[in-house]
Amino acid sequence: MSKTDIRSLDYRELEAIFNNIGLKRFRVSQVYDWLHEKGVMSFDEMTNLSKQLRQQLESEFEIKSCKILRKLVSSIDGTVKYLFQFDDGSTVESVVMKYKYGYSICISTQVGCKMGCSFCASAIGGFQRNLTPSEMLCEVFTAQRDLNIKVSHIVLMGTGEPLDNYENVLKFLRLVTDEKGQNISMRHISLSTCGLVEKIYKLADENLQLTLSVSLHAPNDEIRQKTMPVAKKYNMDELLKACKAYTDKTSRRISFEYAMIKGVNDSVDNAEELCRRLRGILCHINLIPVNEIKERDYKKSDAESLKSFVSVCEKRGFAVTVRRTLGSDINASCGQLRQSTGTV
Ligand code: SAH
Repeated sequence: MSKTDIRSLDYRELEAIFNNIGLKRFRVSQVYDWLHEKGVMSFDEMTNLSKQLRQQLESEFEIKSCKILRKLVSSIDGTVKYLFQFDDGSTVESVVMKYKYGYSICISTQVGCKMGCSFCASAIGGFQRNLTPSEMLCEVFTAQRDLNIKVSHIVLMGTGEPLDNYENVLKFLRLVTDEKGQNISMRHISLSTCGLVEKIYKLADENLQLTLSVSLHAPNDEIRQKTMPVAKKYNMDELLKACKAYTDKTSRRISFEYAMIKGVNDSVDNAEELCRRLRGILCHINLIPVNEIKERDYKKSDAESLKSFVSVCEKRGFAVTVRRTLGSDINASCGQLRQSTGTV
């Protein structure tokens, strides 16, 4: 029989199981503290428990862990990219970035991705499986331990579509923000989606204070469908309606991600059309000069087009930023994370 994945349990679930197996109540807070506040990787590290109790826990539960298969450090900005391997051999990448305000980690939510966006390396190699809440926590804990840091911000922008792994991602968010655990503020978490409409409504109902990023990348359905298969399932009207409902419900501004691809979506007309479509939605536009990946021949927009695009957005009254690219020398930028085939 397989052992219970103990770090995926929330406090009440742990309490119920401990109660069932006859463990005293105070053990719950001890063990939860080791798992979620201290982030240990084995029962042996739980030094305030007797050897006998540790053995009992070991026989009933497992603490999922991951190995660092490879670690690359950017010589430009110190960004660190990890290739982690889970117990079943599958691998994902995570990236730690240093900002003025502290450390931020970009984590993966699935092994591979089903969404198939043509400009994104995560789609290459297809989809393998969802990550469990404990595996997502593991990305955070393993990086923190290795670098001897505490991260203050988390972005769910690595490999995978977070809203396609909805329950596990929500559980992860609740665990990592728990004040008895890592106590990371929900306001310091960003979740990025390619636009799964029903799930955006569902997330709105949770009324979380996180930042929702929506990968738009186009001003209309025709262009969007060329690069993002998900655009054939949900058109932009439906998507933007869901976004509007999201902001109405949460009062949180949405960040629309827009990868600027030379000659595809970066003209002044494209900018005007984008602004028309986004009018009335509480939002922020984040432009990302597309990061080039070796399997595709998309090129970054040039500086001139970027500038003109920005000025249209500003003129139309939108908050617009151009995303700073970190870790480009180690292929750690947006859309460059993948499974083990990644080489620099
Ligand atoms: N599946 C989610 C989470 C991935 S986040 C989503 O689609 O939002 C990764 C972000 O990087 C997304 O906004 C994605 O569209 C963007 N991206 C993918 N490939 C890119 C590339 N080559 N250059 C710049 N951004 C890219």
